[in-house]
Amino acid sequence: MISCHRLLRALPAFALMLWGGAAAADPVADIVAKALADGWSYQFLSDLTTEIGPRMAGSPAARQAAEWAKIRLQQAGFDEVHLESFPVTNWTRGAESAEIIMPSRQHLAVAALGQSVATPAAGIDAQIVLFKSFQALLDMPPGSLNGKIAVVTQRQVRTQSGSGYGAIVGMRVTGASEAAKRGAVAYLIRSVGTDNHRLPHTGVMSYAKDAPRIPAAALSNPDADQLERLIAKGPVSLHLNLASESKENAQAVTVVGEIRGREHPEQVVLLSGHLDSWDLGTGAIDDGAGIAIAAGAARVIAGLQQRPKRTIRVVMFGAEEIGAASKAYAEAQGAKAANIAIAGESDFGARKIYQASLPNAVAGTAFGKQLAAALLPLGVDLEKTPARHGGSDLEDLAEGGVPFVQFDQNGSDYFDIHHTADDTFDKIDAGELAQNVAVWASFAWLAADSDVDFGRLPSGTGSRR
Ligand SMILES: [Zn+2]
Repeated sequence: MISCHRLLRALPAFALMLWGGAAAADPVADIVAKALADGWSYQFLSDLTTEIGPRMAGSPAARQAAEWAKIRLQQAGFDEVHLESFPVTNWTRGAESAEIIMPSRQHLAVAALGQSVATPAAGIDAQIVLFKSFQALLDMPPGSLNGKIAVVTQRQVRTQSGSGYGAIVGMRVTGASEAAKRGAVAYLIRSVGTDNHRLPHTGVMSYAKDAPRIPAAALSNPDADQLERLIAKGPVSLHLNLASESKENAQAVTVVGEIRGREHPEQVVLLSGHLDSWDLGTGAIDDGAGIAIAAGAARVIAGLQQRPKRTIRVVMFGAEEIGAASKAYAEAQGAKAANIAIAGESDFGARKIYQASLPNAVAGTAFGKQLAAALLPLGVDLEKTPARHGGSDLEDLAEGGVPFVQFDQNGSDYFDIHHTADDTFDKIDAGELAQNVAVWASFAWLAADSDVDFGRLPSGTGSRR
Protein backbone atom coordinates (compact mmCIF):
# COMPACT_ATOMS: atom_id res chain seq x y z
CA MET A 1 0.00 0.00 0.00
CA ILE A 2 1.38 3.37 -1.03
CA SER A 3 1.67 5.99 1.72
CA CYS A 4 -0.16 9.25 1.46
CA HIS A 5 3.16 11.05 1.36
CA ARG A 6 4.35 8.95 -1.58
CA LEU A 7 1.05 9.42 -3.39
CA LEU A 8 1.44 13.17 -3.20
CA ARG A 9 4.95 12.94 -4.59
CA ALA A 10 3.74 10.77 -7.43
CA LEU A 11 1.01 13.18 -8.55
CA PRO A 12 1.85 15.63 -11.31
CA ALA A 13 1.86 19.29 -10.34
CA PHE A 14 -1.37 20.17 -12.16
CA ALA A 15 -3.27 17.47 -10.32
CA LEU A 16 -2.06 18.87 -7.02
CA MET A 17 -3.35 22.28 -8.03
CA LEU A 18 -6.79 20.83 -8.73
CA TRP A 19 -6.60 18.80 -5.56
CA GLY A 20 -6.05 22.10 -3.71
CA GLY A 21 -9.78 22.76 -3.95
CA ALA A 22 -12.45 23.70 -6.46
CA ALA A 23 -12.18 27.39 -5.54
CA ALA A 24 -8.53 27.50 -6.51
CA ALA A 25 -9.35 25.95 -9.89
CA ASP A 26 -11.48 28.96 -10.87
CA PRO A 27 -11.02 31.73 -8.32
CA VAL A 28 -12.78 34.30 -10.52
CA ALA A 29 -16.03 32.29 -10.65
CA ASP A 30 -15.82 31.99 -6.89
CA ILE A 31 -15.19 35.75 -6.53
CA VAL A 32 -18.11 36.62 -8.83
CA ALA A 33 -20.49 34.32 -6.96
CA LYS A 34 -19.44 35.82 -3.63
CA ALA A 35 -19.62 39.42 -4.90
CA LEU A 36 -23.10 38.97 -6.38
CA ALA A 37 -24.41 37.39 -3.18
CA ASP A 38 -22.68 39.83 -0.84
CA GLY A 39 -24.66 42.72 0.59
CA TRP A 40 -21.70 44.43 2.26
CA SER A 41 -21.33 47.30 -0.23
CA TYR A 42 -25.06 48.04 -0.19
CA GLN A 43 -25.07 48.10 3.62
CA PHE A 44 -21.91 50.24 3.71
CA LEU A 45 -23.56 52.77 1.40
CA SER A 46 -26.81 52.73 3.35
CA ASP A 47 -24.97 53.32 6.62
CA LEU A 48 -22.65 56.02 5.24
CA THR A 49 -25.48 58.04 3.73
CA THR A 50 -27.72 57.51 6.77
CA GLU A 51 -25.31 57.88 9.69
CA ILE A 52 -23.12 60.64 8.20
CA GLY A 53 -25.03 62.13 5.25
CA PRO A 54 -23.43 64.95 3.19
CA ARG A 55 -19.61 65.14 3.34
CA MET A 56 -18.18 68.37 1.99
CA ALA A 57 -14.39 68.34 1.70
CA GLY A 58 -12.82 69.93 4.77
CA SER A 59 -16.04 69.80 6.82
CA PRO A 60 -16.44 68.16 10.25
CA ALA A 61 -18.83 65.65 8.59
CA ALA A 62 -16.15 64.61 6.09
CA ARG A 63 -13.69 64.04 8.95
CA GLN A 64 -16.32 62.00 10.77
CA ALA A 65 -16.97 59.99 7.60
CA ALA A 66 -13.26 59.21 7.28
CA GLU A 67 -13.00 57.98 10.87
CA TRP A 68 -16.15 55.93 10.31
CA ALA A 69 -14.86 54.40 7.05
CA LYS A 70 -11.54 53.52 8.69
CA ILE A 71 -13.34 51.42 11.28
CA ARG A 72 -15.50 49.78 8.60
CA LEU A 73 -12.42 48.73 6.62
CA GLN A 74 -10.71 47.39 9.72
CA GLN A 75 -13.83 45.35 10.52
CA ALA A 76 -13.95 44.14 6.90
CA GLY A 77 -10.57 42.40 7.22
CA PHE A 78 -8.20 44.92 5.63
CA ASP A 79 -4.62 44.36 6.82
CA GLU A 80 -3.79 48.05 7.24
CA VAL A 81 -5.93 51.20 7.24
CA HIS A 82 -4.86 54.81 7.71
CA LEU A 83 -5.96 58.40 7.05
CA GLU A 84 -4.08 61.01 4.99
CA SER A 85 -4.89 64.72 5.45
CA PHE A 86 -4.24 67.68 3.16
CA PRO A 87 -5.29 71.35 3.20
CA VAL A 88 -8.35 72.55 1.28
CA THR A 89 -10.71 75.51 1.28
CA ASN A 90 -13.94 74.45 2.99
CA TRP A 91 -16.91 76.11 1.30
CA THR A 92 -20.27 76.27 3.07
CA ARG A 93 -23.62 77.05 1.48
CA GLY A 94 -25.71 79.67 3.26
CA ALA A 95 -29.27 80.85 2.71
CA GLU A 96 -29.94 81.27 -0.99
CA SER A 97 -32.85 82.67 -2.93
CA ALA A 98 -33.76 84.17 -6.25
CA GLU A 99 -36.89 85.69 -7.63
CA ILE A 100 -38.12 87.44 -10.70
CA ILE A 101 -39.04 91.02 -9.67
CA MET A 102 -40.00 92.31 -13.10
CA PRO A 103 -42.35 91.92 -14.98
CA SER A 104 -44.04 89.82 -12.22
CA ARG A 105 -42.82 88.49 -8.87
CA GLN A 106 -42.00 84.78 -9.08
CA HIS A 107 -39.79 82.50 -7.00
CA LEU A 108 -36.91 80.73 -8.78
CA ALA A 109 -35.23 77.51 -7.62
CA VAL A 110 -31.47 78.12 -7.40
CA ALA A 111 -28.38 76.60 -5.79
CA ALA A 112 -25.10 78.45 -5.35
CA LEU A 113 -22.17 76.92 -7.21
CA GLY A 114 -19.43 75.55 -4.98
CA GLN A 115 -16.76 78.17 -4.15
CA SER A 116 -19.08 81.05 -5.12
CA VAL A 117 -18.75 84.25 -3.14
CA ALA A 118 -21.84 85.61 -1.38
CA THR A 119 -23.93 88.51 -2.61
CA PRO A 120 -24.06 91.65 -0.45
CA ALA A 121 -26.41 90.98 2.49
CA ALA A 122 -29.21 92.93 0.82
CA GLY A 123 -28.79 90.84 -2.33
CA ILE A 124 -28.41 91.97 -5.93
CA ASP A 125 -31.23 93.44 -8.03
CA ALA A 126 -30.49 93.70 -11.73
CA GLN A 127 -31.77 93.09 -15.23
CA ILE A 128 -30.71 89.89 -16.90
CA VAL A 129 -29.01 89.28 -20.22
CA LEU A 130 -29.79 85.75 -21.36
CA PHE A 131 -27.60 83.59 -23.64
CA LYS A 132 -28.82 80.27 -24.99
CA SER A 133 -25.23 79.08 -25.39
CA PHE A 134 -22.03 79.71 -23.43
CA GLN A 135 -20.31 80.61 -26.68
CA ALA A 136 -22.79 83.45 -27.23
CA LEU A 137 -21.64 84.96 -23.91
CA LEU A 138 -17.97 84.47 -24.83
CA ASP A 139 -18.61 86.32 -28.10
CA MET A 140 -19.64 89.48 -26.21
CA PRO A 141 -17.14 92.35 -25.88
CA PRO A 142 -15.84 93.73 -22.54
CA GLY A 143 -18.30 96.12 -20.87
CA SER A 144 -21.28 94.72 -22.75
CA LEU A 145 -22.80 93.21 -19.56
CA ASN A 146 -22.15 96.15 -17.21
CA GLY A 147 -24.47 96.03 -14.20
CA LYS A 148 -26.37 93.00 -15.52
CA ILE A 149 -26.94 89.45 -14.29
CA ALA A 150 -25.63 87.15 -17.04
CA VAL A 151 -27.75 84.02 -17.55
CA VAL A 152 -26.64 81.07 -19.72
CA THR A 153 -29.28 78.45 -20.52
CA GLN A 154 -27.38 75.94 -22.64
CA ARG A 155 -28.74 72.44 -22.06
CA GLN A 156 -26.83 69.24 -21.29
CA VAL A 157 -27.48 66.43 -23.78
CA ARG A 158 -28.41 63.02 -22.33
CA THR A 159 -26.13 60.16 -23.44
CA GLN A 160 -25.40 56.69 -22.09
CA SER A 161 -21.73 57.55 -21.56
CA GLY A 162 -22.39 60.90 -19.89
CA SER A 163 -20.35 62.70 -22.57
CA GLY A 164 -22.88 65.55 -22.59
CA TYR A 165 -21.51 66.67 -19.21
CA GLY A 166 -17.92 67.21 -20.29
CA ALA A 167 -19.15 69.07 -23.34
CA ILE A 168 -20.91 71.71 -21.28
CA VAL A 169 -19.41 71.83 -17.79
CA GLY A 170 -17.01 74.66 -18.74
CA MET A 171 -19.92 77.10 -18.53
CA ARG A 172 -20.25 76.19 -14.84
CA VAL A 173 -16.56 76.16 -13.96
CA THR A 174 -15.29 79.24 -15.83
CA GLY A 175 -18.47 81.17 -16.71
CA ALA A 176 -18.65 83.54 -13.73
CA SER A 177 -15.26 85.06 -14.50
CA GLU A 178 -16.07 85.29 -18.20
CA ALA A 179 -19.29 87.15 -17.35
CA ALA A 180 -17.44 89.37 -14.85
CA LYS A 181 -14.81 90.31 -17.47
CA ARG A 182 -17.70 91.65 -19.55
CA GLY A 183 -19.09 93.67 -16.63
CA ALA A 184 -21.75 91.33 -15.15
CA VAL A 185 -22.52 91.62 -11.41
CA ALA A 186 -23.79 88.03 -11.00
CA TYR A 187 -23.90 84.83 -13.04
CA LEU A 188 -26.64 82.23 -13.38
CA ILE A 189 -26.63 79.03 -15.41
CA ARG A 190 -29.17 76.43 -16.33
CA SER A 191 -28.25 73.45 -14.15
CA VAL A 192 -25.76 71.10 -15.72
CA GLY A 193 -28.14 68.14 -15.61
CA THR A 194 -30.63 66.20 -17.72
CA ASP A 195 -33.77 66.19 -15.54
CA ASN A 196 -36.88 68.33 -15.72
CA HIS A 197 -37.33 68.82 -11.98
CA ARG A 198 -37.06 71.97 -9.90
CA LEU A 199 -33.99 70.75 -8.05
CA PRO A 200 -30.94 72.74 -9.16
CA HIS A 201 -27.56 71.01 -9.63
CA THR A 202 -24.63 72.49 -7.77
CA GLY A 203 -20.99 71.81 -8.68
CA VAL A 204 -17.63 73.45 -8.44
CA MET A 205 -16.68 76.72 -10.12
CA SER A 206 -13.49 78.73 -9.93
CA TYR A 207 -12.48 82.34 -10.33
CA ALA A 208 -9.89 83.63 -12.80
CA LYS A 209 -7.23 85.88 -11.25
CA ASP A 210 -7.92 88.70 -13.71
CA ALA A 211 -11.66 89.17 -13.12
CA PRO A 212 -13.84 90.49 -10.27
CA ARG A 213 -15.36 87.69 -8.13
CA ILE A 214 -19.10 87.72 -8.75
CA PRO A 215 -21.68 85.37 -7.16
CA ALA A 216 -22.72 82.36 -9.22
CA ALA A 217 -25.64 79.93 -8.99
CA ALA A 218 -27.52 77.30 -10.98
CA LEU A 219 -31.22 77.52 -11.87
CA SER A 220 -33.29 74.36 -12.05
CA ASN A 221 -34.06 73.31 -15.62
CA PRO A 222 -37.75 74.44 -15.53
CA ASP A 223 -36.70 77.82 -14.09
CA ALA A 224 -34.20 78.29 -16.91
CA ASP A 225 -37.03 77.50 -19.36
CA GLN A 226 -39.21 80.08 -17.62
CA LEU A 227 -36.58 82.81 -18.04
CA GLU A 228 -36.14 81.89 -21.72
CA ARG A 229 -39.88 82.30 -22.34
CA LEU A 230 -40.12 85.47 -20.30
CA ILE A 231 -37.15 87.29 -21.84
CA ALA A 232 -38.64 86.67 -25.28
CA LYS A 233 -41.51 88.94 -24.20
CA GLY A 234 -39.46 91.83 -22.79
CA PRO A 235 -36.96 92.93 -20.10
CA VAL A 236 -36.62 90.76 -16.96
CA SER A 237 -35.13 91.75 -13.58
CA LEU A 238 -34.12 89.40 -10.78
CA HIS A 239 -33.28 89.57 -7.12
CA LEU A 240 -30.47 87.20 -6.04
CA ASN A 241 -29.28 86.49 -2.53
CA LEU A 242 -26.47 84.05 -1.66
CA ALA A 243 -24.81 83.80 1.77
CA SER A 244 -22.07 81.22 1.23
CA GLU A 245 -18.77 81.24 3.14
CA SER A 246 -15.24 79.93 2.52
CA LYS A 247 -12.76 78.83 5.17
CA GLU A 248 -9.10 78.52 4.18
CA ASN A 249 -6.77 75.83 5.52
CA ALA A 250 -9.38 73.26 6.44
CA GLN A 251 -8.17 69.64 6.32
CA ALA A 252 -9.57 67.10 3.86
CA VAL A 253 -9.10 63.43 4.71
CA THR A 254 -8.42 60.51 2.37
CA VAL A 255 -8.90 56.94 3.67
CA VAL A 256 -6.45 54.24 2.57
CA GLY A 257 -6.84 50.51 3.26
CA GLU A 258 -4.70 47.62 2.05
CA ILE A 259 -4.99 43.88 1.51
CA ARG A 260 -1.30 42.99 1.58
CA GLY A 261 0.08 40.89 -1.30
CA ARG A 262 1.62 37.50 -0.49
CA GLU A 263 4.56 37.71 -2.92
CA HIS A 264 5.07 41.32 -4.00
CA PRO A 265 3.45 43.41 -1.27
CA GLU A 266 5.22 46.53 -2.55
CA GLN A 267 3.37 46.28 -5.90
CA VAL A 268 -0.07 47.87 -5.76
CA VAL A 269 -3.36 47.47 -7.61
CA LEU A 270 -5.26 50.61 -6.62
CA LEU A 271 -9.09 50.72 -6.49
CA SER A 272 -10.75 54.00 -5.60
CA GLY A 273 -13.70 56.34 -5.37
CA HIS A 274 -14.24 59.57 -3.44
CA LEU A 275 -15.56 59.99 0.07
CA ASP A 276 -16.41 63.69 -0.16
CA SER A 277 -19.77 64.74 -1.61
CA TRP A 278 -21.83 67.83 -2.26
CA ASP A 279 -24.01 69.15 0.51
CA LEU A 280 -27.49 69.09 -1.03
CA GLY A 281 -28.05 65.32 -1.02
CA THR A 282 -26.33 62.55 0.92
CA GLY A 283 -23.80 61.65 -1.77
CA ALA A 284 -25.17 58.19 -2.60
CA ILE A 285 -24.48 58.06 -6.35
CA ASP A 286 -21.67 60.63 -6.11
CA ASP A 287 -19.71 58.98 -4.79
CA GLY A 288 -20.71 56.84 -1.84
CA ALA A 289 -21.42 54.15 -4.44
CA GLY A 290 -17.87 54.30 -5.81
CA ILE A 291 -16.16 53.77 -2.47
CA ALA A 292 -18.69 51.07 -1.54
CA ILE A 293 -17.84 49.28 -4.80
CA ALA A 294 -14.05 49.63 -4.45
CA ALA A 295 -13.99 48.58 -0.80
CA GLY A 296 -16.53 45.81 -1.35
CA ALA A 297 -14.47 44.37 -4.20
CA ALA A 298 -11.33 44.30 -2.06
CA ARG A 299 -13.26 42.83 0.85
CA VAL A 300 -14.40 39.87 -1.27
CA ILE A 301 -10.73 39.16 -2.00
CA ALA A 302 -9.79 39.62 1.66
CA GLY A 303 -12.25 36.82 2.42
CA LEU A 304 -10.50 34.28 0.17
CA GLN A 305 -8.19 31.61 1.58
CA GLN A 306 -5.14 33.16 -0.04
CA ARG A 307 -4.00 36.74 -0.56
CA PRO A 308 -3.16 37.71 -4.18
CA LYS A 309 0.52 38.16 -5.13
CA ARG A 310 0.28 41.95 -5.18
CA THR A 311 -1.26 44.34 -2.66
CA ILE A 312 -4.77 45.67 -3.30
CA ARG A 313 -5.09 49.22 -2.03
CA VAL A 314 -8.45 50.96 -1.65
CA VAL A 315 -8.32 54.76 -1.68
CA MET A 316 -11.34 56.86 -0.68
CA PHE A 317 -10.27 60.29 -1.91
CA GLY A 318 -11.18 63.19 0.37
CA ALA A 319 -11.70 66.14 -2.01
CA GLU A 320 -12.79 65.19 -5.53
CA GLU A 321 -15.64 67.64 -5.89
CA ILE A 322 -13.45 70.69 -5.42
CA GLY A 323 -10.71 69.13 -7.53
CA ALA A 324 -8.07 68.94 -4.79
CA ALA A 325 -7.46 65.24 -4.07
CA SER A 326 -5.70 64.15 -7.25
CA LYS A 327 -2.71 66.47 -6.89
CA ALA A 328 -2.49 65.99 -3.12
CA TYR A 329 -2.37 62.20 -3.41
CA ALA A 330 0.13 62.15 -6.30
CA GLU A 331 2.40 64.54 -4.38
CA ALA A 332 2.15 62.48 -1.20
CA GLN A 333 3.00 59.34 -3.18
CA GLY A 334 5.96 60.94 -4.91
CA ALA A 335 8.40 58.29 -6.16
CA LYS A 336 6.30 55.53 -4.53
CA ALA A 337 3.77 56.00 -7.36
CA ALA A 338 6.13 53.82 -9.43
CA ASN A 339 4.91 50.87 -7.30
CA ILE A 340 1.31 51.31 -8.48
CA ALA A 341 0.96 48.66 -11.18
CA ILE A 342 -2.46 49.92 -12.22
CA ALA A 343 -5.20 52.14 -10.79
CA GLY A 344 -8.94 52.62 -11.30
CA GLU A 345 -11.70 54.82 -9.92
CA SER A 346 -15.45 54.19 -9.70
CA ASP A 347 -17.13 57.60 -9.79
CA PHE A 348 -20.23 57.41 -11.97
CA GLY A 349 -22.99 56.09 -9.74
CA ALA A 350 -24.13 52.50 -9.32
CA ARG A 351 -25.70 51.56 -12.64
CA LYS A 352 -24.39 48.48 -14.46
CA ILE A 353 -20.98 48.42 -16.10
CA TYR A 354 -21.32 47.66 -19.83
CA GLN A 355 -17.76 47.96 -21.08
CA ALA A 356 -14.19 47.95 -19.87
CA SER A 357 -10.93 49.19 -21.31
CA LEU A 358 -7.30 48.54 -20.39
CA PRO A 359 -4.03 50.38 -20.90
CA ASN A 360 -2.44 49.99 -24.30
CA ALA A 361 0.33 47.77 -22.94
CA VAL A 362 -2.03 44.88 -22.16
CA ALA A 363 -4.76 45.29 -24.76
CA GLY A 364 -4.86 42.06 -26.79
CA THR A 365 -2.51 40.14 -24.46
CA ALA A 366 -3.25 36.96 -22.52
CA PHE A 367 -4.27 39.16 -19.57
CA GLY A 368 -6.76 40.99 -21.77
CA LYS A 369 -8.26 37.69 -22.95
CA GLN A 370 -8.47 36.41 -19.38
CA LEU A 371 -10.25 39.57 -18.24
CA ALA A 372 -12.60 39.54 -21.24
CA ALA A 373 -13.60 35.95 -20.45
CA ALA A 374 -14.18 36.86 -16.78
CA LEU A 375 -16.31 39.92 -17.57
CA LEU A 376 -18.49 38.60 -20.39
CA PRO A 377 -20.80 36.58 -18.08
CA LEU A 378 -21.38 39.85 -16.18
CA GLY A 379 -22.57 41.53 -19.39
CA VAL A 380 -19.39 43.55 -19.88
CA ASP A 381 -17.49 43.88 -23.18
CA LEU A 382 -13.78 44.49 -23.18
CA GLU A 383 -13.06 47.34 -25.59
CA LYS A 384 -10.20 47.05 -28.07
CA THR A 385 -9.33 50.73 -27.71
CA PRO A 386 -7.18 51.74 -24.71
CA ALA A 387 -8.64 53.30 -21.56
CA ARG A 388 -9.06 57.08 -22.00
CA HIS A 389 -9.81 58.32 -18.48
CA GLY A 390 -9.25 56.63 -15.16
CA GLY A 391 -11.14 59.05 -12.93
CA SER A 392 -10.57 62.65 -11.88
CA ASP A 393 -8.73 61.67 -8.68
CA LEU A 394 -6.20 59.67 -10.73
CA GLU A 395 -5.32 62.38 -13.23
CA ASP A 396 -2.11 63.48 -11.54
CA LEU A 397 -0.97 59.89 -11.01
CA ALA A 398 -1.65 59.26 -14.70
CA GLU A 399 0.34 62.36 -15.62
CA GLY A 400 3.20 60.74 -13.75
CA GLY A 401 2.82 57.54 -15.80
CA VAL A 402 0.51 55.35 -13.66
CA PRO A 403 -1.70 53.31 -16.04
CA PHE A 404 -5.41 52.96 -15.39
CA VAL A 405 -8.35 50.69 -16.10
CA GLN A 406 -11.70 52.18 -17.13
CA PHE A 407 -15.12 50.65 -16.49
CA ASP A 408 -17.99 52.44 -18.25
CA GLN A 409 -21.35 52.39 -16.46
CA ASN A 410 -24.75 53.13 -17.92
CA GLY A 411 -24.98 56.86 -17.23
CA SER A 412 -28.30 57.53 -18.99
CA ASP A 413 -29.98 58.86 -15.84
CA TYR A 414 -26.90 59.75 -13.78
CA PHE A 415 -27.17 63.46 -14.55
CA ASP A 416 -30.84 63.57 -13.56
CA ILE A 417 -29.80 63.61 -9.90
CA HIS A 418 -26.03 64.30 -9.91
CA HIS A 419 -25.16 67.16 -7.49
CA THR A 420 -28.82 67.67 -6.49
CA ALA A 421 -30.75 67.21 -3.26
CA ASP A 422 -32.06 64.02 -4.85
CA ASP A 423 -28.70 62.21 -4.65
CA THR A 424 -29.92 59.88 -1.93
CA PHE A 425 -29.70 56.18 -1.06
CA ASP A 426 -33.12 55.18 -2.43
CA LYS A 427 -31.71 55.68 -5.97
CA ILE A 428 -29.34 52.70 -5.55
CA ASP A 429 -30.31 49.34 -7.09
CA ALA A 430 -28.76 46.58 -4.99
CA GLY A 431 -28.39 44.17 -7.93
CA GLU A 432 -26.70 46.71 -10.19
CA LEU A 433 -24.37 47.75 -7.36
CA ALA A 434 -23.42 44.08 -6.85
CA GLN A 435 -22.62 43.72 -10.57
CA ASN A 436 -20.13 46.58 -10.17
CA VAL A 437 -18.56 44.88 -7.15
CA ALA A 438 -18.24 41.62 -9.10
CA VAL A 439 -16.56 43.35 -12.06
CA TRP A 440 -14.09 45.28 -9.90
CA ALA A 441 -13.33 42.24 -7.73
CA SER A 442 -12.68 40.06 -10.80
CA PHE A 443 -10.36 42.67 -12.27
CA ALA A 444 -8.60 43.28 -8.94
CA TRP A 445 -7.94 39.59 -8.43
CA LEU A 446 -6.65 39.00 -11.96
CA ALA A 447 -4.42 42.10 -11.85
CA ALA A 448 -3.12 41.48 -8.34
CA ASP A 449 -2.56 37.73 -8.55
CA SER A 450 -0.32 38.08 -11.59
CA ASP A 451 3.00 39.56 -12.67
CA VAL A 452 1.51 41.30 -15.70
CA ASP A 453 3.20 44.59 -16.59
CA PHE A 454 0.60 47.25 -17.36
CA GLY A 455 3.30 49.59 -18.63
CA ARG A 456 3.65 53.30 -17.87
CA LEU A 457 1.79 56.09 -19.62
CA PRO A 458 3.76 58.64 -21.63
CA SER A 459 3.50 61.96 -19.80
CA GLY A 460 0.83 64.34 -20.96
CA THR A 461 -1.31 61.72 -22.68
CA GLY A 462 -4.36 59.71 -21.84
CA SER A 463 -5.11 61.13 -18.44
CA ARG A 464 -7.54 63.94 -19.13
CA ARG A 465 -10.82 63.56 -20.95
ZN1 LIG B 1 -17.90 62.20 -8.10
